[in-house]
Amino acid sequence: MPQSLNRRNVRRYAAAIKAAQLGLQVTCVEKRGTLGGTCLNIGCIPSKALLHSSHLYEDAKDNFSKHGISIKGSVEVDLPAMMKHKSTSVSGLTKGIEGLFKKNKVTYVKGAGVVSSANEVSVNLMDGGEEKIRAKNIMIATGSEVATLPSVPIDEEVIVSSTGALKLDKVPETMVVIGGGVIGLEMGSVWRRLGSQVTVVEFLDRIIPGTDSEIANNFLKILKKQKMKFKLSTKVVSSSMKDGKVVLELEKTAGGSPETIEADVVLVATGRRPHTQGLGLDKAGIEMDDKGRIKVDSSYRTNLPNVYAIGDVIHGPMLAHKAEDEGLVAAEIIAGVGEGHINYDCIPNVIYTHPEVATVGRSEEQLKEAGVSFKKGIFPFGANSRARTNDVAGDVAQGMVKILTDKTTDRILGVHIVGPNAGELIAECVLAMEYGASAEDIARTCHAHPTLSEAVREAAMAAHDKPIHF
Ligand SMILES: Cc1cc2nc3c(=O)[nH]c(=O)nc-3n(C[C@H](O)[C@H](O)[C@H](O)COP(=O)(O)OP(=O)(O)OC[C@H]3O[C@@H](n4cnc5c(N)ncnc54)[C@H](O)[C@@H]3O)c2cc1C
Repeated sequence: MPQSLNRRNVRRYAAAIKAAQLGLQVTCVEKRGTLGGTCLNIGCIPSKALLHSSHLYEDAKDNFSKHGISIKGSVEVDLPAMMKHKSTSVSGLTKGIEGLFKKNKVTYVKGAGVVSSANEVSVNLMDGGEEKIRAKNIMIATGSEVATLPSVPIDEEVIVSSTGALKLDKVPETMVVIGGGVIGLEMGSVWRRLGSQVTVVEFLDRIIPGTDSEIANNFLKILKKQKMKFKLSTKVVSSSMKDGKVVLELEKTAGGSPETIEADVVLVATGRRPHTQGLGLDKAGIEMDDKGRIKVDSSYRTNLPNVYAIGDVIHGPMLAHKAEDEGLVAAEIIAGVGEGHINYDCIPNVIYTHPEVATVGRSEEQLKEAGVSFKKGIFPFGANSRARTNDVAGDVAQGMVKILTDKTTDRILGVHIVGPNAGELIAECVLAMEYGASAEDIARTCHAHPTLSEAVREAAMAAHDKPIHF
C-alpha cells in the first residue's frame, strides 16, 4: 500500500494540500459536490459577504451624508444582486480549491464516505456506484452540523438555520434569533441592517457566552444602540404558525408567566454539534468522548492506528482556522516531518459585526477562576484619533481594547477587543502571545500614527504602567 492519506470530507482542504506537498498520495472524499466544507459553502465566507454588503448599505444610507457625501434619491437594497455577489464569491473560492487540488495532485472523489476499516474508506459516489479506497492513513474531518431545538423545527423557509438565513429571498419585517452567540449576532446584524426588526432571545443572562464579560456587556450596549432587541434569561418553550407568521412561546428562566412573540422568520442559532453520523465510526470501533466528539490524542490520532481526526468533529473551538491548523499539523505528523502542536491559548476568535469583537487567550473570569494574579489595561477607542475620525455613527468609539497580563511577569495572558477592525488588530496580539511577549514589549513597539493599532499599544501601556492618551 502506498504511503497515502485518505482525507475524507474536507473543509480543511488545506490538510490535503499540505499532505500532498509533503509527498503523500492524497485522496479527498467530499459529499457536498463542492469543496471548502461549511466555511466556504455555508459558513464563514457567505456570512462575511452578506455582513460586508449589508454594512456598506447601512453606511451609505445612514452615514455617508455625515461625511459630506450626498446621494440623490433613496439608497435601496437589491437583494438578488447582493445574494448573487455572495454566491459568486463562494463559487470562485470553491473552484479555486479544485484548481489547487489539481496543482498539488490531490485526487478529489465526490461522494459520502464510510470508514469501513482502519485502512479502508467505502464511498457512495455522487454519480452512482461505490468505490473502496485503501489507504495507509485516514483523516476524518467531517465537521459539524446545526444543533436543532425539537420545539422549533427548522424548515429553512420561515424557521431557518444559519444556512437558510444566508439565502432568504426577501427581507423579513420581523426576525427572532434564538441564541445570542456568534452566528446569531452576525446573521441578526445582516438582516437588521437590511431592514428587519430583530429580537434576540437568549437563555443566559448575557450574550456571547465564554467571552470576557466586560467585552460582552460593552458589545451588548452597542448592539442595543443599533436597535437590535434582546430578551435575555429567556427560553423558547414552543413554536406554532399563525397567519403565515411564527409564534414563539417564551418563558423567563427564573419562571413567571409565559409571553409570546411573533416573527416573519425565526433563526435557530443555538450552536453546532459534531458531525459523526453515518460514518461507520461505531462499526470501525472509533472511540468518542463524553460530548459526542471523536476522541484524539495530542497528535490527532484516534484509538485506531493511522486513523486521525481534526476540526469541528474533535474537541476545541469550532473555528475554521483552528481546523486548518490541526489539519496542517496532523499532515506533518503523518508525513513524519514533525510532531508539531497547537497552542490552544493562542487561537483568536472573531465576531464580524460592526464594530467587530476579537479575543485571544484567557478572559478576566477565567483568570479569576484559576486564581491567577493579573493586571488589566484598558484603552477606549473613543480616545483613539483614527477611530474617532472614521466613526461618524458613534458605535465604534464605545469599543475598547483590554489586555490582561500576569501581575508578576507582565506576560500577556489575554487580549479582548470590541472595536473597528478588531479581527485584524488581534493578529498582532496573537503573535505577541505566541512569542511569550510582555505588555511592555507591545508598549515599546512603534505603531504607525494615526492607526487603530495605537489603541492596542495604549492598552499595553495601561497594563504595564500608564497610557498616554487616556
Ligand atoms: C454561518 C457560519 C459562519 C461561520 N463563520 C466562521 C468564521 O467567520 N470564522 C471561523 O473560523 N469559523 C466560522 N464558522 C465555523 C467554521 O465553518 C467551521 O469551524 C469549519 O468549517 C470547520 O471545519 P471542518 O473541516 O472541521 O469541517 P467542515 O468545514 O464542516 O467540513 C466538513 C465537510 O465534510 C463533509 N462530509 C461530512 N460527512 C461526510 C461523509 N460521510 N462523506 C464525505 N463528506 C462528508 C461535509 O459535506 C463538509 O463539507 C462558521 C460556521 C457557520 C455555520
